[in-house]
Formats: sequence, structure tokens, C-alpha cells
Amino acid sequence: MLLPDLRVKKITDIKLEMLTENEIEALLLDSDNTLIDLDKKPLDGIKKWIEEMKSNNIKFCILSNSIKKKKVKRIADFLEIPYVYFSLKPSKIGFKKAKKIIGIKENNKIAEVGDQIFTDVLGTKRMKMFSILTEPICKEKVKINNIKRKIEKKILEKNKF
Ligand SMILES: [Mg+2]
Repeated sequence: MLLPDLRVKKITDIKLEMLTENEIEALLLDSDNTLIDLDKKPLDGIKKWIEEMKSNNIKFCILSNSIKKKKVKRIADFLEIPYVYFSLKPSKIGFKKAKKIIGIKENNKIAEVGDQIFTDVLGTKRMKMFSILTEPICKEKVKINNIKRKIEKKILEKNKF
């Protein structure tokens, strides 16, 4: 439940073949520390990567736990993709909303990409979707997250691919 199906350094490292091999047709994207850094700056090359994926018929929806609608909308508008904010991952609520938006019924054709095990990976696995874990763009400042990160690191070290 806590292990991703695939691990990459950053989201733009995901290649089309990785998706087609696994019959993935849509990606749900975490925003904080996956698409944007703590200063809300988009990841280098993200716009081009999204456009290339779109031209290969990959569908997108941002799935963010952030309660800041404006922040999530800004990156969604920049990337020209729909979004769900305040998604309450790892609960299934936001995933279901995003699924409706992208219009794909089969959960196994959908992957989520995010940087956190206890929200992104856990929620995705509960949905029986394909889970892609990235490294966070920058280290969190908040203490609670640092503790979570340490536990995550231990889990991943024990389960090297
Ligand atoms: Mg995140």
C-alpha cells in the first residue's frame, strides 16, 4: 500500500513509453513540490513536457491537497489542464472528482504523480491506480513534514527497486 509502482527524480523524467507500457491514459498530478516549488515557481520544462504528453493523447488533472484555490488554479491555467484542489488525499473523494473530470472509468488506466507516500502513494493505491513517486522539488520547511520524510526514506530504503 505504501510502495509506488514507479519512482522518478522529477515529473519531467516520465517518458511516454513508461505510460504506454502500463496502459496509462491519464495522469493526476500533485501540485506542491511536484509541479511547483515552495515559492510557487513551476518546475523547469514542465509546460513543454505536458504539451508533448497531451499531443500523445495523455489526459491530465491536477489533484492537490492544497486549500489555496488561487495557487492551484494558477498552475492549472499555466499548464492548461483542469484541477481539483483541497482533494483530501489519501481519501478517495478527490480522486473520484478528478476521474469524472478526465472521463476515464477504468482506474488502472490512471496514474497519480506526487512526492509524498502518505498522501499520494497511499491514496493512489487505495484507488487501485498506478502510483508514480517523485522526489520533492525542494525540502519542506515544516517540521512535521520532515518527520514524515524520514519515515518515508526508511520505507523506501527497505524496498529498493
Ligand atoms: Mg506534494
